[in-house]
Amino acid sequence: MWGCKVVDHANPFMIQHADHHLEIPEQGNGDPALFVQSLDAGLFDYLRPCDSVTGCCHLFRAKTLEKSGGFDIRLSPSQYDDLEHDFRLLKDGGYAVYQGHLQVLHRKRSGLASHTSPQSEGNALGNKFKLQAIHTNEELMELQLAGRKRLLDDIRAKSAHLGLMLDISGAFDKRAHGFYFPGQNSTGARLPGGTMHHDDETRDFLSKLPELKKGEKYRFKCYPGISCFNECCSDLNMVLTPYDLLRMRKNLGLSSTEVIKSFVDTFTAGESNFPALRLRMTDTPKKSCPFVRDSGCSIYPDRPGACRMYPLGRAAKIDKDGNVEEQFFVLHEDHCKGFDEAAEWNSLNWMEDQGFDDYIRFNDKYMHLISRWNETGRKLPEKLMGIVALALFQVDDFQQFIKDMRLFERVEVSEERQKAIMEDEEETLAFALDWVELLLLGQGGALKPRM
Ligand code: SF4
Ligand code: SF4
Repeated sequence: MWGCKVVDHANPFMIQHADHHLEIPEQGNGDPALFVQSLDAGLFDYLRPCDSVTGCCHLFRAKTLEKSGGFDIRLSPSQYDDLEHDFRLLKDGGYAVYQGHLQVLHRKRSGLASHTSPQSEGNALGNKFKLQAIHTNEELMELQLAGRKRLLDDIRAKSAHLGLMLDISGAFDKRAHGFYFPGQNSTGARLPGGTMHHDDETRDFLSKLPELKKGEKYRFKCYPGISCFNECCSDLNMVLTPYDLLRMRKNLGLSSTEVIKSFVDTFTAGESNFPALRLRMTDTPKKSCPFVRDSGCSIYPDRPGACRMYPLGRAAKIDKDGNVEEQFFVLHEDHCKGFDEAAEWNSLNWMEDQGFDDYIRFNDKYMHLISRWNETGRKLPEKLMGIVALALFQVDDFQQFIKDMRLFERVEVSEERQKAIMEDEEETLAFALDWVELLLLGQGGALKPRM
């Protein structure tokens, strides 16, 4: 009997089911984890024997089906009857084979999206209890041991075929560990990228500041020689956006991994659980920024948006049609003598002078993504953190990931854009933001899956 990979029809990057292997909980009261509910990054494209495959795509030889009998009517409306049938097949000495190179789009959602009504949840729960009563633990344990042996035999046979000698003893005791961002919250004195979304946690912080109306002027000038020069470049709690990191990297001529290791602390952002980065201050009494020198900022043309925008703060709200509503605020800090100078600015000519256009393009997209995710009220699952961090903060590595995973075969991207994405890291980041939106939120964003 054969089965295949099952993916969410609304988000084909989200794999729902692959092959199932019996795992009897030690205490006897565990919940069967049938859903993969994770990014389909190509890791499930294998073929191997297993204890069960999902019934939305079962292929039987007629004789095998007749021998093991039909589906149990007691598990009606249909739920867990496929699994129960596979248990009987195992008892009869048969087994399923998973064909991960084939996939079906599954109309039924999984994860939180599957919670459609109390009735359907009640049905699923009821059938689960029935399933647990049909086969005894002893019987299932026997099947589990047989399944493990079958898997080991399969690995050994494949290894022998490849001429490999693999040490697979203890293979089933190992647990994979994902990319982990230690949890921490942040409220920054400088707004991430100079911009924050209206819905974000700094809304309260912004609401305490006087709003700078359109065209309204303020006085400010910053220059080497001013008495407070460099005073503002220490002891900062500065969150970096993906575009901040990209520009810093380019200036430093380093890979994203090197920059993250040397200059950045990682954390997870509030309730969203999104991976986030904070510029690491030096371990000196002043806790200076690692880039400040006597002559000023050593990465000045590519300094983060928050530094570029200071003393302005910008809050942006993007509606469903993509229209941006902006509000500006002046962050007046006592130590800053720039406000005593005669030069006058308004929000528009300040942003133009500071070269903020590219930062707006990327940071608004980023804030929009986080805002859409926050609206779901969900926490980013730990197993997706690594891939989101890779796409947003390691675009040099993400280019390789695009190639390895043949992502362009699975999303609608013109050939011209594909070329740009692989040659220009700013285009890679723009694509990464679209792709993460599709991955996490399904269709409705800028990118469409190829059907
Ligand atoms: S990046 Fe440059 S401008 Fe920003 S805090 Fe550091 S030295 Fe100052
Ligand atoms: S404190 Fe103000 S004026 Fe002084 S260096 Fe910083 S931004 Fe410029």
